[in-house]
Amino acid sequence: MSARPSRILILGGGFGGVYTALTLEKLLKAEIRRGEVELGLVSRENYIVFQPMLPEVISGSIGLLDTITPIRRLCPHTNLYTRTIESIDLDHRSVASTAGFGSRQHHLHYDHLVFALGNVTSFAGQPGLAEYALPFKYLGDALTLRNRVIHTLEEADIEQEPELRRALLTFVVAGGGFSGVEAVAELNDFVRAAARGFRNIRAEEIRVVLLHAGRLILPELPASLGEFAQRLLARRGVELRLNTRLAGATADTALLAGGDRIATRTLVSTVPAAPNPIVAMLPLPMDRGRIVVDSGLEVPGSSGVWAVGDCAAVPDAKTGGLCPPTAQHATRQATHVARNIVAALRGEPKRAFAFTALGKMGSLGRRSAVAEILGVRLSGFLAWWLWRTIYLMKLPGLDRKIRVAADWTLDLVLPTDIVQLKTDRALAVRREYFEPGQVVFREGDRGDWLYVVTEGEVEVLKDGGAAEPTPLRRLGPGECFGEIALVSDRPRSATVRATCATNVLAVDREAFQALFATLPPLRGFFESLIETRR
Ligand SMILES: Cc1cc2nc3c(=O)[nH]c(=O)nc-3n(C[C@H](O)[C@H](O)[C@H](O)COP(=O)(O)OP(=O)(O)OC[C@H]3O[C@@H](n4cnc5c(N)ncnc54)[C@H](O)[C@@H]3O)c2cc1C
Repeated sequence: MSARPSRILILGGGFGGVYTALTLEKLLKAEIRRGEVELGLVSRENYIVFQPMLPEVISGSIGLLDTITPIRRLCPHTNLYTRTIESIDLDHRSVASTAGFGSRQHHLHYDHLVFALGNVTSFAGQPGLAEYALPFKYLGDALTLRNRVIHTLEEADIEQEPELRRALLTFVVAGGGFSGVEAVAELNDFVRAAARGFRNIRAEEIRVVLLHAGRLILPELPASLGEFAQRLLARRGVELRLNTRLAGATADTALLAGGDRIATRTLVSTVPAAPNPIVAMLPLPMDRGRIVVDSGLEVPGSSGVWAVGDCAAVPDAKTGGLCPPTAQHATRQATHVARNIVAALRGEPKRAFAFTALGKMGSLGRRSAVAEILGVRLSGFLAWWLWRTIYLMKLPGLDRKIRVAADWTLDLVLPTDIVQLKTDRALAVRREYFEPGQVVFREGDRGDWLYVVTEGEVEVLKDGGAAEPTPLRRLGPGECFGEIALVSDRPRSATVRATCATNVLAVDREAFQALFATLPPLRGFFESLIETRR
């Protein structure tokens, strides 16, 4: 090895990244101690999320922090940079990330670079999903969903208007793969158990819907297990809408391909996984958004650049295709890439990756699961028991194992927790989507937002007690509305509704009033606009 320490930099703190660091720490213990090798890991969070257990965070059967393990504790000999990666310069072997509190950029240099950045949830191309659908991938998503469910129950308990009440008590999950099915199973159990704590909600008012584009859910498993899961979920009250795609959303409706609508205030989408934008920008060979690697997990033509996990297109020697994006594969690839990097440092040849998954498992909530392990198909209680045992063993960190085992034990005897944590600060500026004919606000409503049309068109209507409202004007891209009520501090003086599919930018009352009071040119603009419109 050379006199300067060899720098190995890992990007991503999920299964791929953390297990690469863990294995390198073990294999290069002496070299790290002697200062011959430096290990670095850059990740947005300082913890690894154990995603297979994430659905249980919705119901609270596992404590929020018990599915995550601090990376510092798992990898004590790795320099952890808790940062957001901004760009990668492969020519100069450098990675730029944003510093924590300031806007100054931070640069890290490497000799070996491991990409383990996973994929991201993308709602591109489906109107309204980015604004209204909840993703389900990170810890924060599970917490947001849990809080949303409790919030809707709180609202429904006091809501008298039947239509609004129905939307509040309808929960829709899109995606019949593992994460969608596990999420809908937990959500269904949770909402039905939690509703018992509310005086005015009846069990028969609750509607939980799973949308799946195919004919059978869990297509990754043999058909008999998918059929078992469908029967079980249906028995527990989940409405299965098969051969049905989610096409978009508004604030209170799930829009289905083919024109159907489901009124809901809780829409979860587990379907779209897109390439990580940092990965998509790289001048490296790609296969459907994943970095192409050879059988040794190194990028062809880029010596010292490696990739593992969901962001890598790893050839599967058995099937001739690509390895599936699972935690099982990511961890095996991670230990393998670590061995190959050590071989490269020592001038030895790298070895080809080969791994056959031991099985697949999916939890269906309340002591039931489906599993196929070493070709054996299991369903019901035994599969659930195996699911829990295997995942408990795989959960990184002894303290987390103890905590989760304690959570599961207490969950058997304690009532469902219905505390709603209000952690999010409301956004001052947000995007919204409106369907043709949908009302943005009505005459007489409180003025709470200023709107700017970014795409589409709205019409302004004056009610004035007449049977047919009088159209006042139409507004298109670049034009704003809603300013009169905000400036005058009176209720809305007209109704506004979309004439076609319309996207708007909404600025909240407080932000608008702060700008209005402190920015004279803006104040002048709005005063003359109001004058003209009056
Ligand atoms: C709800 C759910 C349940 C699942 N259940 C199972 C299961 O039961 N069994 C199974 O095998 N698989 C399961 N999976 C799939 C499995 O979790 C993934 O295949 C696995 O996490 C992939 O690991 P990875 O390291 O490639 O990516 P990830 O785990 O996604 O890690 C990517 C890391 O990169 C970081 N990152 C990304 N972009 C940046 C940036 N710009 N700057 C800094 N850091 C960044 C992220 O913060 C994260 O730490 C599940 C997935 C989900 C969402």
